[in-house]
Amino acid sequence: MDTEHDLRTHLDSVRERIAAAARRAGRQPEEIELVAVSKTVAPERIAALARLGVRYFGENRVEEASAKLPALQALLGPEAYASKRWCLIGHLQSRKAAQAVGLFDEIHSLDSLGLAQRLDRLAAAHGRALPVLIEVNVSGEASKYGLPLAQPAALYGAIEAMLTLGHLEIQGLMTVAPLVADPEEVRPVFCRLRELRDDLARRWPARPWHHLSMGMSDDFEVAVEEGATMVRLGRALFGPRN
Ligand SMILES: *Cc1c(COP(=O)(O)O)cnc(C)c1O
Repeated sequence: MDTEHDLRTHLDSVRERIAAAARRAGRQPEEIELVAVSKTVAPERIAALARLGVRYFGENRVEEASAKLPALQALLGPEAYASKRWCLIGHLQSRKAAQAVGLFDEIHSLDSLGLAQRLDRLAAAHGRALPVLIEVNVSGEASKYGLPLAQPAALYGAIEAMLTLGHLEIQGLMTVAPLVADPEEVRPVFCRLRELRDDLARRWPARPWHHLSMGMSDDFEVAVEEGATMVRLGRALFGPRN
């Protein structure tokens, strides 16, 4: 398989679809950041996509990333590697938090106050600020991580407490929508995450609530129409996973 050629074709097609969805919603395509979800993908293939100009990469497991990110640093060279943003997008167990802070530039799956407090302490120990997105469970599915939208008092309480943590840079929200046959079915999920973000921005206007990470390979166009500033794409870029 001609890796570089097929990656370029997928990337061009995804960028066109993002741009078309943005225009339908009266948005600028540049407002939307593409996060390449590289779980299960070999470092050589990830490096090829990085060389094509993709800047954000998402891995969902610390263990897998701990083997792959050093390999990517070697493949790309330290400077190119440092110019990319390596993000954790999957659930983080507290016992792996220290390793995650050492590996990743950003955590997009901050899903509890306890984890936030731990990450804040670890970031302080590393002498760095850690950009994070708060993951929200919009649909209420038991299989999903994230602060439940259905419990607003607990949700707002947790967020208010997170905002006091000086080493976390909370930049917005992330959600994983339910798997459905027709992406139109999850439009309300994306819409509700945007409404929550707008409400948080009214309550805490001095904070940067900019990002909405929502939309995956099967539903990213709907997410862009509903205001996504980051879409997380795995299969649409790399092809089917094994
Ligand atoms: C795997 C994964 C994605 C990407 O899924 P695709 O359907 O391959 O685009 C996005 N977000 C999270 C949290 C994931 O685990």
